[in-house]
Amino acid sequence: MADLELGLAGHIQAPGRRGPEFDRSLLRAIQEASPDGILVVDEQGVVVSYNQRFIETWKISIDHLDYHSSDDGTVPEDRLMHAALAQLKDPDAFIKRVMELYATPSARDHCELELKDGRVLERHSVGLHNDLNRYLGRVWFFRDITERKRVEAALRELAWRDQLTGEMSRGHFLSCASDELARAKRYRHPLAILMIDLDHFKSINDRYGHAAGDVVLVTVCQRWRDVLREGDLLGRIGGEEFAILLPNSDREATQKVAERLRACVAEPSIQVFDDEIACTVSGGIAMVDVDQGSIDNALSRADDALYRAKHKGRNRMEMDGAG
Ligand code: GH3
Ligand code: MG
Ligand code: MG
Repeated sequence: MADLELGLAGHIQAPGRRGPEFDRSLLRAIQEASPDGILVVDEQGVVVSYNQRFIETWKISIDHLDYHSSDDGTVPEDRLMHAALAQLKDPDAFIKRVMELYATPSARDHCELELKDGRVLERHSVGLHNDLNRYLGRVWFFRDITERKRVEAALRELAWRDQLTGEMSRGHFLSCASDELARAKRYRHPLAILMIDLDHFKSINDRYGHAAGDVVLVTVCQRWRDVLREGDLLGRIGGEEFAILLPNSDREATQKVAERLRACVAEPSIQVFDDEIACTVSGGIAMVDVDQGSIDNALSRADDALYRAKHKGRNRMEMDGAG
């Protein structure tokens, strides 16, 4: 490690030590090899340089870069700006931010730009200053991150959705539930939570096979979807255990929904391949204490009520006493 540091230190020199020819070559190499589209603009807003990657990233046509069509042989930045604006989903926000950056030479910038063709570009920008801190212009870096965004979205979807039922995963449910709690606090709406567990599901698996058990889980969720409203949250939080959050649902309304959620599973029996599978669920209901409570607390009370429902013979919904 010490050797490496010495070795590296031996190669580091102050910028400019090797002269302007070296610096020019270095700059050219950086521009040519950079994975970023690079645009350099001087303090007058005149384009000083850009690299091939910039042209490709923004799909700039040769007309935009025609030096000869301007009086002084320069490319004014607004010409490139027009080319960019025409492609942006939100050109107004782009103009606003660019103006802010030109007005604040020391400001650095990092943002993502959505294009009309579906691509996403990442933009970095930094002001150029000489040794005396005089403003000389600005360098813009653009990188096409469409593929990265697509992979990120796919991974998020994978983590957020339960792969069997398509419903929310535990983590996603809990995160959305806490958003709902914040909304309920703000608008002073009641909020109810249910924990529902399939009864004797192990026996269903044992008798009809795991694949049939999977179909039962999917069917139960489909039936529940028909009962639930658009804004209700349904999450698979364990193997055969689900949590449901009902925004703006008081105690009475929640009890009615819970009963329908129970009844729609119990009947009709679930057809899987050649079998008619009789399946029931038990549930615990708790009202969230919107002012002082938490989702965790309500879930735990719903879980206790669920335990009681199981104890009292299953195929029933039990209400938590508090709240
Ligand atoms: P209880 O009424 O007390 O809830 O009894 P139970 O048999 O439903 O509960 P238990 O916890 O003993 O068994 C749950 C079963 O759920 C065991 C497990 O194999 C099954 N299970 C969990 N996830 C899946 C799944 O994704 N597919 C299938 N087919 N079965 C699953
Ligand atoms: Mg069970
Ligand atoms: Mg269980």
